[in-house]
Amino acid sequence: MMITAKTINKIRSIVGSENFFDSPEQKLAYSYDATPLLSQFPSAIIRPRTTQELSEVMILANHEHFALVPRGSGTGLSGGSIPTENSIVVLTNHWNRIIELDEKNLTVRVEPGVLTAQLQSTVESIGLFYPPDPGSAAISTLGGNVAENAGGLRGLKYGVTKNYVQGMEVVLPDGSIVSLGGKSVKDVAGYNLKDFLIGSEGTLGIFTNILLKLIPKPETSSTMLAFFDRISDAGETVAEIISSHISPSTLEFLDRTTINCVEQYAHLNLPVNTEALLLIEVDGHHVVVKEDTEKISVLCRKHRANNFSIARSEQEAVKLRSARKIAFSALARVKPTTILEDATVPRSEVVPMLERIQSIAQKNGLLFGNFGHAGDGNLHPTCLTDARNTQEIRSAEQAFGEIFSEAVKLGGTISGEHGIGLAKRQFLEKLAPLPAIEMMRRIKESIDPHSVLNPGKIFSLSPRCEGPMPKNASQIKKYIDAGAFT
Ligand SMILES: Cc1cc2nc3c(=O)[nH]c(=O)nc-3n(C[C@H](O)[C@H](O)[C@H](O)COP(=O)(O)OP(=O)(O)OC[C@H]3O[C@@H](n4cnc5c(N)ncnc54)[C@H](O)[C@@H]3O)c2cc1C
Repeated sequence: MMITAKTINKIRSIVGSENFFDSPEQKLAYSYDATPLLSQFPSAIIRPRTTQELSEVMILANHEHFALVPRGSGTGLSGGSIPTENSIVVLTNHWNRIIELDEKNLTVRVEPGVLTAQLQSTVESIGLFYPPDPGSAAISTLGGNVAENAGGLRGLKYGVTKNYVQGMEVVLPDGSIVSLGGKSVKDVAGYNLKDFLIGSEGTLGIFTNILLKLIPKPETSSTMLAFFDRISDAGETVAEIISSHISPSTLEFLDRTTINCVEQYAHLNLPVNTEALLLIEVDGHHVVVKEDTEKISVLCRKHRANNFSIARSEQEAVKLRSARKIAFSALARVKPTTILEDATVPRSEVVPMLERIQSIAQKNGLLFGNFGHAGDGNLHPTCLTDARNTQEIRSAEQAFGEIFSEAVKLGGTISGEHGIGLAKRQFLEKLAPLPAIEMMRRIKESIDPHSVLNPGKIFSLSPRCEGPMPKNASQIKKYIDAGAFT
């Protein structure tokens, strides 16, 4: 059902006309996120000033049957903040204050629009540490991180976002404002509702403030790069580092295609004729860091690393880290469309999984780069393709279907950190156990009976190549024909 002019007027009067946007350019700007091949124009975009206003709009949505789609920075890789039909995008990135830093309880209360890196640098300046470190930290919001339960480069030692969320204020789909969790470290009073909302991809509530746990900043760190002629040697190195009870804060992998793209892009003097790169970082007390660095250096050589370097300064560490940090951007330059996924397997299955990805890519005639969080088994098979080549996009869909099936067969999952959103609904429904999907649906229906909050995400079938994109393409053409962007 179309949102009527009368409803629009009511929304405007709640948030104020200056916080209501519906020009073609604004709709275009909020029609997509970082996920390729998916986009849809919203009916409008709002920037509520207060939690109360958001709650009032939510109540109106239930009465007048329109949908709300929360949005942080739009860096999501599963289409979670892409509008659905007749939906209003709710901006949260203007709520960007660090409200309270509590050094006695080691917590920080933030608004959801605070950028991840902004929080990291603020707390590090006083000797504290917020470990979750998604590759997008410089631009992603903490609200988006909590909604996706974002992982990142430090997940192996420190865990992911959920390990650092102690509480939240959330507006539920019926408009009620609820406070969950708190500064008390232990809390088992009833169901663990806070954890239930973490990773709910904006479908069960909109966070309006978040209480995060902090830890002391590690005293020092050491950063290493190792190159291998065989992926299996890199895999054995990872396995032996972990079985030797060393806990690197970072243990990342790049394959040959990705190493080459990074080198062509950034000229870091990486040896381009090698099959695998490991970026390894250890942190903590300086004695432990020194010992672990020595042990890792021995293990890398034992497993035939043909090139091994240790950063001697923070400047050098930044350079070594950048090989991994720019992997996505470097791959994205090769072809017009980059489909980055996050099939995840138990750590012991990383090498078999990489071999299967390679053979699936070859069989389907596709170019793939692979990189990811080797220590977590969280791989990012990345297909370099071109959206205009429908046949190739269909092959890519086919290949990803096969990759996800293989990940599940190896005891893994179809998403380790990016979520399901719009992009992976069809795979979830095929590959997750039906009773689990049914339970998720029942939870969604009981909390959001009128389906007002981010509908169409996580559930319901629609292959990416037949999704909303063609519709949007025609919408864009219509606006261009009407001279909207001239
Ligand atoms: C270059 C690059 C590198 C990346 N690296 C990583 C990585 O290492 N690890 C990782 O996990 N992800 C990574 N991502 C994916 C993405 O950055 C994360 O999913 C991030 O958490 C999204 O944050 P955002 O603010 O951009 O949220 P958005 O993309 O705007 O939204 C993501 C989801 O959260 C919901 N949402 C947003 N704000 C709220 C709120 N206040 N309340 C409720 N729901 C909300 C949205 O509806 C949507 O479903 C990467 C992305 C890019 C482009």
